[in-house]
Amino acid sequence: SFHKSKGQHILKNPLLVDSIVQKAGIKSTDVILEIGPGTGNLTKKLLEAGKQVIAIELDSRMVLELQRRFQGFSNRLKVIQGDVLKTELPHFDICVAIIPYKISSPLTFKLLFHGTSFRCAVIMYQREFAMRLVARPGENLYCRLSVNTQLYARVSHLLQVGKNNFCPPPKVDSSVVRIEPRKLGPQVNKKEWDGFLRVCFIRLNKTLGSIFKQKYVLLMLEKNFKTLQNVLGSFHNNGSIGEAAMDLGDHSIGIEDEHENEMDDDDDMDMDDGEGKTSEFKEKVINVLKEGGFEEKIASKMSQQEFLYLLSLFNKSGIHFT
Ligand code: SAM
Repeated sequence: SFHKSKGQHILKNPLLVDSIVQKAGIKSTDVILEIGPGTGNLTKKLLEAGKQVIAIELDSRMVLELQRRFQGFSNRLKVIQGDVLKTELPHFDICVAIIPYKISSPLTFKLLFHGTSFRCAVIMYQREFAMRLVARPGENLYCRLSVNTQLYARVSHLLQVGKNNFCPPPKVDSSVVRIEPRKLGPQVNKKEWDGFLRVCFIRLNKTLGSIFKQKYVLLMLEKNFKTLQNVLGSFHNNGSIGEAAMDLGDHSIGIEDEHENEMDDDDDMDMDDGEGKTSEFKEKVINVLKEGGFEEKIASKMSQQEFLYLLSLFNKSGIHFT
């Protein structure tokens, strides 16, 4: 019996398994990471295609079944029992996986932040999640997840998979996506980038000009600004300003929760403080937007380059998102 809570849907169409393996472009020298091998239908083909398979599986019953099924392969198949999200990833050349959909987001970011030592990951996702990953600026499903993913990787849609290829069939259709880490990714502070995008995407259909005039956005940015000024000030007195700036660097990674606080509607936590006077800080923020021509732009239509440029303009003015 299968555990629904572990997302156990077994791919039963062998042609589809072949097609995934073929599109993954596996080399005979590859060490392959498989996540959630289940009963091992994909594992079998991966063992035929590559040099070694390292499979991470949560369910101990499945692990036993795999070990029984692949007894003769113990030198080429290593099964690790555990939660992939809590497991330190081994070295691998390529990741191929049919994952339980509820770990889609954290697993994707785990892979994206794993570095560039692997060639690519070929992963089956729920269709809508897959379409978000590959969406381009201006397309319907373009969101924070798209911008974030595409900053660290090239993504492409490989294959559509109907739900009836699984047993038991899940509620939704699936898609296989290829994720190839960018070797020369832009050097951004992950925490800052994440905070910046969260603000830009707070309202899907509002201009940056109106988002950045919201009181709580300004308060947050001003607080960061003052903290930074204080840190810089005190270090300045000690004569080591450079280190202060560096210390504000990398924090731990915020994992993407898709869309959790994006709102589509026009509810009005707007805008002016009512007294008609514009604070100095607000003016500073608006000037940055004006300088780059971003006041009238909408996040859901902006390219990654535009986001990077705007963040650099903010940073140049001492405005930070972490
Ligand atoms: N690849 C298999 C197939 O299609 O025949 C099974 C895929 S099934 C959608 C997902 C598998 O991932 C299940 O075997 C489940 O036990 C396992 N799993 C669920 N959560 C996991 C986690 N956090 N870490 C590792 N494996 C997990």
